[in-house]
Amino acid sequence: MIYFDNAATTKVIPEAAAAATAAMCEDFGNPSSLHGLGISAENMLSSARADIAEALSCTPREITFTSCGTESNNLAIFGAAARSGKRRHFVTTAYEHPSVLSTAKKLEADGFEVTYISPRDNGTIFPGDVAAAVRDDTFMVSVMSVNNEIGALMNIPAISNAVKLKNRDTLIHTDAVQAFLKIPINTKKYGADIISISGHKIHAPKGIGAIYIKQGVGLTPQLLGGGQERGLRSGTEPTAQIAAFAAAVRAGTKTLDDDRRRISDLSEKLQQELETLPNVHVLAPDSRAPHILNVSFTKYPSEVVMRILEEDGIYISAGSACSRGKKSHVLRALNVPERLIGSAVRISLSRFSTEEEVSEFISVAKAKLV
Ligand code: PLP
Repeated sequence: MIYFDNAATTKVIPEAAAAATAAMCEDFGNPSSLHGLGISAENMLSSARADIAEALSCTPREITFTSCGTESNNLAIFGAAARSGKRRHFVTTAYEHPSVLSTAKKLEADGFEVTYISPRDNGTIFPGDVAAAVRDDTFMVSVMSVNNEIGALMNIPAISNAVKLKNRDTLIHTDAVQAFLKIPINTKKYGADIISISGHKIHAPKGIGAIYIKQGVGLTPQLLGGGQERGLRSGTEPTAQIAAFAAAVRAGTKTLDDDRRRISDLSEKLQQELETLPNVHVLAPDSRAPHILNVSFTKYPSEVVMRILEEDGIYISAGSACSRGKKSHVLRALNVPERLIGSAVRISLSRFSTEEEVSEFISVAKAKLV
């Protein structure tokens, strides 16, 4: 099997699975319980929070666990909107993940005004375009760090600088679900007030995410109950997923620089070889996170390309996993011709992808798709 659908989800690494098993079968207490088992679960939770904080160069208090990237995005946007007072304007981009776009639509339905910034022809969001949209009443700007369909890499520090020059009270949120542990993110330099991340894109299980909230930034909780996570996100902490998340973060942080270099090399090889083939169009933004490559094999619709590759044990995605057959709003935002949109697929690598797999992919593509 060649698994090139890592932007949809990743394989859980053994260290993460082992940490989850230990948290389920040994240290299975409720972190809120006052007895020894509870305290031991609470200690695990604190150390997991510290590991994730270290990966983002922030303090553990700035990390709140959630159930997924979607929840983090909802909490960031609704949580800020709920306390925005008279400031009722929100800025985002036209090619965000649905967990941001649907949240923006709900804000509009509730009477907020939303400005959607279109990407430039080079595939990325121009900081000046974002700043130009910011007004006195803009409570938040939300721009993703890496686009999940085309890999476009946004310059969040530059966007933040430009926005804060125009209105220093505007909060900067970034959906970094596809960026975390793919590019280095140091919260001290990144310029974001709020950052969403998710476990299952970095070799932890599904059902765990986190949100970085810069000290001093307040969000209104969206889940009320027992007051866990300092009242910001009630619900008994999923200790198994959290332990696994932290284990995956520790492993991924250690090898981040090497992995980036290797994935870049593989991606470059893939792109160069594909660009030499007939009936192939590679959509590579000028600035790109290398683990995601969008390619149109123009002789076939996306679903057919996916099935043909699957016959040879190669797994890719016909667009993003969330789009399920709907034509990509991301490619539409980039004015990609319909013909190319209909045949676009996403190839996404992980640190476990190999050169042999890339060569095999190219030879199957040459034999069957062009
Ligand atoms: N944001 C981006 C950019 C994503 O790619 C995804 C998942 O595909 C999400 C958010 C949602 O994350 P989760 O699946 O953890 O809810």
